[in-house]
Amino acid sequence: MTNSTPLLLSGKEVAKSILMRTRKQVHDALDQGQEVGLCVLQVGECEASSIYVARKESRAQRLGFVSTTLKLSTDISEESLIEQLHRLNTNPFIHGILVQLPLPSHIDEQRVLDTIDPSKDVDGFHPINSGLLSQGRPNFVPCTPKGVIGILNHYQIPLSGQHAVVIGRSNIVGRPMAQLLEQQNCTVTVCHSRTSDLKSHLLTADIVVAAVGIPNMVRGEWLKQGVVVIDVGINRLDDGSICGDVDFESASKIASAITPVPGGVGPTTIANLMENTWMAFQRSSKG
Ligand code: NAD
Repeated sequence: MTNSTPLLLSGKEVAKSILMRTRKQVHDALDQGQEVGLCVLQVGECEASSIYVARKESRAQRLGFVSTTLKLSTDISEESLIEQLHRLNTNPFIHGILVQLPLPSHIDEQRVLDTIDPSKDVDGFHPINSGLLSQGRPNFVPCTPKGVIGILNHYQIPLSGQHAVVIGRSNIVGRPMAQLLEQQNCTVTVCHSRTSDLKSHLLTADIVVAAVGIPNMVRGEWLKQGVVVIDVGINRLDDGSICGDVDFESASKIASAITPVPGGVGPTTIANLMENTWMAFQRSSKG
């Protein structure tokens, strides 16, 4: 059975309103002589990381943040990196700190993330922030799952009582995503690399969130008629083009609503990073 054209869930629209609101807040603070500082740490020169970091810095600067990128050499020791973070933690002009992932293999990523002051942890990856989120009293919510909820709410997709299937259980996307959907009263199933018969789970889902990293993995014939599909995946193909984890063409014939890639979840991630940085500043100024 084929569906009529699904509603295209544009993350760009959602991001635009977050960015406009944050820009105004940052400029109001500037008018009162207060600058909001964001520092991004990049270790090494990985091309993808450099692109992401440059985008974050440029967006932050356009909004009026004082944004700096600390580019550290690939062979920096774990101790030196930790020292840099301690300095940023105590720097009163820096309100948000972000470490661009992945880090080189000789560095313990978790130890580094654990070092960021939780009140400056605008990515929301510190265990205190993860713990607060899991208890339903979020401090900083990781930007990508926060963006997914933003899209669902913006388009008034009903969540309460719906069966959501999240594919992926990473600390960055899948796990917090499942928690947020559960807190919005969805019944949540989490699927992952060891799930047997993924298709049987997907066929019962009212909402599917794919956060896997395998190009076009989820096919339309695995989905229930009228499902809402959120594709978090960003995969670069050999020809340089970008695609998601969902096969858009076949899924569009079944879904009632679907996010495109690019232009879906991606833009909301960076917008939420800006919003989280503003929130960090606001909380710090309230003492
Ligand atoms: P990850 O590699 O940390 O996690 C991938 C998850 O997919 C794992 O939990 C794994 O169990 C699961 N998985 C792997 N193979 C599977 C399979 N065959 N069936 C079911 N589950 C399987 O990745 P991540 O950081 O969570 O990112 C996931 C995707 O989201 C990537 O494509 C990434 O580029 C993208 N991403 C997008 C944004 C954005 O702003 N849109 C932000 C972060 C990540």
